[in-house]
Amino acid sequence: MSQQGYVAAPPYSQAQAGMGGYSAGFGNPPPQSHYGAYGSPPQGYSAPPTGKVNLLLLSSVLKLAIIIIFIFFALVSFPPPVASAPSMSPYGQPPQSAFYSMAQAPPPTQQLTNQMSAMNIGGYGTPMQVPQSPSSSAAPQQYHTSPPPAMGHPPLSPPGQQLSSFGSPPPMATMGSVAAPPMGMSGPPGPGVHQPPLGPQGYPQQPGAFPGGFPGGPAQMAGPPQKKLDPDSIPSTTHVIEDDQAKRGGQVYVTNIRGQVPPLVTTDFTVQDQGNASPRFMRCTTYSFPSTADLAKQCKVPLAAIIKPFATVPKNETPLYIVNHGETGPIRCNRCKAYMCPYMQFMDGGRRYQCGFCSCVNEVPVQYFQHLDHMGRRMDLYERPELSLGSYEFIATLDYCKNNKPPNPPAYIFMIDVSYNNIKSGLVKLICEELKTLLDRLPQEEGAETSPIKVGFVTYNKILHFYNVKSALAQPQMMVVSDVAEMFVPLLDGFLVNFQESRAVVNNLLDQIPDMFADTNESETVFAPVIQAGVEALKAAECSGKLFIFHSSIPTAEAPGKLKNRDDRKLVGTEKEKTLFQPLRGVYEQLTKDCVAQGCCVDLFLFPNQYVDIATVGDVPSHTGGSIYKYSNFQVEVNGQQFVSDLRRDVEKSIGFDAIMRVRTGTGFRATDFFGAVYMNNTTDVEMAAVDCDKAVTVEFKHDDTLSEESGAVMQCALLYTTIGGQRRLRIHNLSLNCSSQLSELYKSCETDALINFFAKSAYRAMLNQPLKTVREILVNQTAHMLACYRKHCASPSAASQLILPDAMKVFPVYMNSLLKTPTLVGSTELSTDDRAFHRLLVNAMGVEETQVLLYPRLIPLHTMDVSSDAIPAPVRCSEERLSESGIFLLENGLSMFLWLGQACPPDLIQNLFNVPSLGHLSSEGMSLPVLDNAHSRKIHSIISSISQQRATSMKLLIVKQKDRSEMLFRQHLVEDKGLHGGASYMDFLCYVHREIRQLLT
Ligand SMILES: [Zn+2]
Repeated sequence: MSQQGYVAAPPYSQAQAGMGGYSAGFGNPPPQSHYGAYGSPPQGYSAPPTGKVNLLLLSSVLKLAIIIIFIFFALVSFPPPVASAPSMSPYGQPPQSAFYSMAQAPPPTQQLTNQMSAMNIGGYGTPMQVPQSPSSSAAPQQYHTSPPPAMGHPPLSPPGQQLSSFGSPPPMATMGSVAAPPMGMSGPPGPGVHQPPLGPQGYPQQPGAFPGGFPGGPAQMAGPPQKKLDPDSIPSTTHVIEDDQAKRGGQVYVTNIRGQVPPLVTTDFTVQDQGNASPRFMRCTTYSFPSTADLAKQCKVPLAAIIKPFATVPKNETPLYIVNHGETGPIRCNRCKAYMCPYMQFMDGGRRYQCGFCSCVNEVPVQYFQHLDHMGRRMDLYERPELSLGSYEFIATLDYCKNNKPPNPPAYIFMIDVSYNNIKSGLVKLICEELKTLLDRLPQEEGAETSPIKVGFVTYNKILHFYNVKSALAQPQMMVVSDVAEMFVPLLDGFLVNFQESRAVVNNLLDQIPDMFADTNESETVFAPVIQAGVEALKAAECSGKLFIFHSSIPTAEAPGKLKNRDDRKLVGTEKEKTLFQPLRGVYEQLTKDCVAQGCCVDLFLFPNQYVDIATVGDVPSHTGGSIYKYSNFQVEVNGQQFVSDLRRDVEKSIGFDAIMRVRTGTGFRATDFFGAVYMNNTTDVEMAAVDCDKAVTVEFKHDDTLSEESGAVMQCALLYTTIGGQRRLRIHNLSLNCSSQLSELYKSCETDALINFFAKSAYRAMLNQPLKTVREILVNQTAHMLACYRKHCASPSAASQLILPDAMKVFPVYMNSLLKTPTLVGSTELSTDDRAFHRLLVNAMGVEETQVLLYPRLIPLHTMDVSSDAIPAPVRCSEERLSESGIFLLENGLSMFLWLGQACPPDLIQNLFNVPSLGHLSSEGMSLPVLDNAHSRKIHSIISSISQQRATSMKLLIVKQKDRSEMLFRQHLVEDKGLHGGASYMDFLCYVHREIRQLLT
């Protein structure tokens, strides 16, 4: 029983710079009562000395009227009868009207035409005669059957119109109708101006002509639709992705150069670690930091790293080496506590080394001494991962363990809501069936035959049922705790078991659970006591672990953490909108602390039919490194497979427990802010009850001094955690960046995908405290500011009417605009509050890969695919413009997947894919994609499966026919178009940002 918390011990006890945690993060002995918020202290259960546990438990059991029932009898005695009608809770939601906005706003293409017509294009920039546009203003839509050319974007305009050199700097414009140069080609650099090798693009635009209404609201219309601007003339994300894949795809990325910008997250490359962490583990918003705080302030480009410490390493890359320094533990700088790494400079014949972070000169411990070669490098440089690699692990000594004791292997507790809804939907049966096979696939240590992870089972509705599944039992035993106000675990022995040993009893239990509750009428549930029970069980077992909670409804039963419906959509658009996303504190806040202190991660699988207050029930998972999944209106036939895939992946994935992360930096800057599914008890220690391969922490840096261009900006992320086998380890990731007094270096080294990850997470946090309108304005202002600063300080002189974008950020505006239109930020009463809160929590834990595809989905044309090729067809821009009536498109954003069928798609393709003669034979509801024995069907299934493997969650395929109602669900992901729930089109946004930039520059 570790009631005393961690005993502070070196090196963790050194508050000024150790991992720091145990004195502050983990260290404070928990108050005598762990139930502060629950009222009276627990009875006799807080700290029983080992050996007396069972006795004390028994007294608790008796005192609190525990019923011990053999399952056999339970079959008879359950469920407790409830008079009220099942599931008829008073928490109705306003009727959904997800599609009404389309009736009010013109379709995106129309909108664009209207707005462009209001902009008096042509009055600015270098006039240029351009080919006549084939587009008809009367046509509501224009289809392009093939993707636009990768290079060159001829602007189009109607006859008689002069179009400024949209997309082209003045010198190029003289090329006449050839129009714009390829993206990234630069005009000649101005005198004294440092020009990035791939220079800016010009996007001249009429100032002040933006029709207004931005952000969020619909733009004002002016004038009849007349002109149409070629969307190909604005920077394209798909081109940028294709270009990077062409340039750097299939290559080995060697991490031996400081400040080197890695390939894009979308590019397929292999990493070879030669002294800096793989971009899979750490990615930065820029790889060249400005040398002073003033410069950083001037450009307003956030300095941040997105760290995914457990990122999956592909099979063709080397897994992390494990370094064991024996009893002395890892070697660390005496002053800043940084771990031995390639940035330590050995001197004095190898007897001393200078820390690359704080410059302190340290003695080399005798057992670590090694001679230096003529270059001053240690002779054993390449034999020691910690001297030559960016990422590696140290075996931690007892000093790094709670109470100086090696940790126990973690436990997984499955906690199933057996209230009426979950029984009726077949969910409980599905979970129990699935667990029988899944428990054989718990994570294992490499080379081990079985998993060391123990498992336990709880079912609940208004009360909790614990199960004794000790291997010696013939039948599982149930223990009921009805006093949910003072949750405790009624049994220790037999609750957490090794599945292999208890297989028969566990399977017996899983067989019986669905029958036991088959006739339940109970529709009320508790929630906080469920988490409390889980964390108490782990406490009692002195281990870390994970709770898998399968929950369906807002917890209204009388218990701590009881919630009521507070989904007031009248608040949307008001100052108080933020309250919809603020979790209710109190009990949940205390639970978070308890969970983090115990290393108890909470994964929440939600199956709501109505509002469940995700902002609150998702609060503990989102602070404990947990995941949240949501399957609205769950039906086994419809989303059973999706849920099962998610559950499997979640149970099997690689994970570390009881983690604490510290990011150290070189002198002159430091980590100031952290975003992720983490808990912060102080300003430096990032605590995670668990961290898995999908969780990323975004870290913001600020200057506190001038950075040296010579030494650059170095950072080291150290993550202390417990392996599934119960070993304490330190995972180290090092990264070195450049520093420069030239802002052009910063802009040249920017990473748009990382930037947008930072902006998404910081905006989603800011919206808890500020009106959404303010948050959106800040995002737009900062976008304009970053680009204006580039224009002012880095770009060659050009007409003010031109929009000049840094090459590395040229698609930043499309991502930013997409972020502004996400359900969370867009602020529409048509969107469910839970969906918005859910989205907010998801993004908070995402890495760069996930935010990239979320904010710019892949739209893949399938009707033109080469069935003999293995490749996924090249995506096209996410706009209605790119759809074709005779086409079929797949769209995915990492969370949802759609198959869109054009009205005129060829019958033979429909026959091959669906085994029906034409589109008309497909019903609009509940379509599925059969597996058929022909090349097209095989190809499309192979594309879908290959995409699914790349994503952290399973995506249910939704098939939509053009012009069907459900098409709107698909269309909201066409992020270049005007938002269905508000928000500008990409083109409008660019124009607006350009106007803002011009204002900033004058
Ligand atoms: Zn140091």
